[in-house]
Amino acid sequence: MKREEVFNFSAGPSVLPTEVLEIAGKDILNYGGSGMSVMEMSHRSKVYLEIFESTKSKMKSALSIPDTHEVLFLQGGASLQFSMIPMNLMHELGKGKADYAVTGNFATIATKEAKKYGTVNIAASSEDKNHTYIPKQSDLKLSPDADYFYYCANNTIYGTEWQYVPETGNVPICCDMSSNILSKPVDVSKYGIIFAGAQKNMAPAGLTVVIIDKSLAGKEMSCTPLMMSYQRMIEKDSMYNTPPCWNIYMLGLVLDWLGKQGGVEGMEKIKKEKAALLYDFLDNSKLFKACAEPGSRSDMNITFRTGDEEKDAGFCKGASAKGLTNVKGHRNVGGMRASIYNAMPIEGVRKLVEYMKEFEVSNCV
Ligand SMILES: *Cc1c(COP(=O)(O)O)cnc(C)c1O
Repeated sequence: MKREEVFNFSAGPSVLPTEVLEIAGKDILNYGGSGMSVMEMSHRSKVYLEIFESTKSKMKSALSIPDTHEVLFLQGGASLQFSMIPMNLMHELGKGKADYAVTGNFATIATKEAKKYGTVNIAASSEDKNHTYIPKQSDLKLSPDADYFYYCANNTIYGTEWQYVPETGNVPICCDMSSNILSKPVDVSKYGIIFAGAQKNMAPAGLTVVIIDKSLAGKEMSCTPLMMSYQRMIEKDSMYNTPPCWNIYMLGLVLDWLGKQGGVEGMEKIKKEKAALLYDFLDNSKLFKACAEPGSRSDMNITFRTGDEEKDAGFCKGASAKGLTNVKGHRNVGGMRASIYNAMPIEGVRKLVEYMKEFEVSNCV
């Protein structure tokens, strides 16, 4: 298939803007007259440091990150943050305490990981309804003396998204934004730590962006590996060791593209329009049903099903044949999932809805 014939709804790694890939392709052998690829440069070279610094400053301006916070470019995926957060913020092994909201698969893993290091209080859980909703502020059982409160802003597998920033008083908030970062404005000052694996909305897999309130760093457990100390990475400007150079360059290109879409404000308008196309259709469909409850629905990962596994499978097969790829839901949920990250053009969503209409007509008697 040609690229033009495919709309890739993969949950991650996921679609990147074609324009970004074209620039990267043009630069692949010789970046900016340096005679070499970005992949081949010393991370300490002048030409690379310019890429690094400009990407960092584009990230800061894209999310209006205040000077109280540092941007780190790390590795180990979003998953390594599940361990880094308790090791750095609980201070002493077995002595710390944190509140976790369990709203899906990744929050569950993060909770299990944190329990290795200290006391974990489940502030809320949506497991009773198979993670189809987000708990309300009034449902959160918060500990005023917790080292931090943890939640996952967008549940990639279940297709739910927090529509509010929890109020936690003086307790710092740590948030996994892997699958919705850069899709809307965020008040970074409300957060202690925001982190995101790059492969959903930012860049190829291999880079994790961490935005951290600097006052939280430097009090890690004494057993914390050097590579997992926020303080060390802040002091070394993410270059304690070789950073994921190529991915950082790619993020810079994606941020240039984002700027042309009107930044996160522009992106928010576009993503709302895209998600509304799908949810409006689903809410009026005789065949398909959205999985997530209204008021908790994700604008990035839209989960739905027919209620009949055979029809779901037929739908996914037919979608692939039309170039609408990767719409099969995660095995924990079944059904379908359309991941419509920033780089998914609205034409892709229109095509998907068109196909859903056709499928409905031929499968409803
Ligand atoms: C994909 C994803 C992860 C896991 O990311 P890795 O980079 O594979 O570790 C964690 N949290 C969320 C919300 C995700 O979407």
